[in-house]
Amino acid sequence: MEPVLKSPCDEQHPQQAEDFHGNVEQSSKLSAGVKKDIEKLYEAVPQLVNVFKIKEKIGEGTFSSVYLATAQLQTGYEEKIALKHLIPTSHPLRIAAELQCLTVAGGQDNVMGVKYCFRKNDHVVIVMPYLEHESFLDILNSLSFEEVREYMFNLFKALRRIHHFGIVHRDVKPSNFLYNRQLKKYALVDFGLAQGTPDTKIELLKTAHSEDQQRSCLQTNPVVALGNGVSVTAPEQIAQQSASKAADRRSSSLSKVQMKQGRGGKVLSLFY
Ligand code: ADP
Ligand code: MG
Repeated sequence: MEPVLKSPCDEQHPQQAEDFHGNVEQSSKLSAGVKKDIEKLYEAVPQLVNVFKIKEKIGEGTFSSVYLATAQLQTGYEEKIALKHLIPTSHPLRIAAELQCLTVAGGQDNVMGVKYCFRKNDHVVIVMPYLEHESFLDILNSLSFEEVREYMFNLFKALRRIHHFGIVHRDVKPSNFLYNRQLKKYALVDFGLAQGTPDTKIELLKTAHSEDQQRSCLQTNPVVALGNGVSVTAPEQIAQQSASKAADRRSSSLSKVQMKQGRGGKVLSLFY
């Protein structure tokens, strides 16, 4: 079921900038720091205000913060979703490559999919279905042999799918393979460090895996077209920059990224 979403491309409503204060859960046990982060996120990406109620922070890494939010469905029900806010200094090609992995390979065989994506200036928020999951450390000592076998089987299923697309994840670990013990659901997340095999089907991983290749690609073809209607226009200055390995995620300002259609022709996001 689709949430009732106002177009993220809608002109920002004059009141919108102030509205985010009301959107932050007042009664909950959120720490002051998390409330501030949520307020800052609404401020940085005001399109979120009309669409999502951000409930809590569920992950914080070097390169992103992940929040649990709800979206109002047409039926009146609330759908839980995960919002991944990438650090603004992430390289635009890395962001686009992460998105392309999710849109092309995600959504089946235990690989996390993507629903929408929002951008305002250098802030990008990836909207994914929310999978409630265990903390691996909490369950580690209570896993039976059979459960470990099942867990590994499902991990291999996810890896088989991404390898089919020529994606090397490079960061497979419990915190990137979500596991819901009760529902027996699994999801491989976090393609922020992914690289492509020489014959990868992920267009942007073709350009991102070598500095020289990326530079020549961007110089000869500043608009990189992605599958599923995603395109990245690289400003001249990033054509000169290195995009090697993990450093990719820390350099540069944001290029113009547009994602119009995802799997099945669904509108995934509108960047402006
Ligand atoms: P990072 O690049 O910062 O490591 P991740 O994509 O790995 O970001 O997300 C960080 C954490 O956020 C994950 O370990 C997980 O706990 C949580 N998370 C990420 N995506 C989802 C999701 N779709 N549903 C539920 N939790 C998620
Ligand atoms: Mg991670």
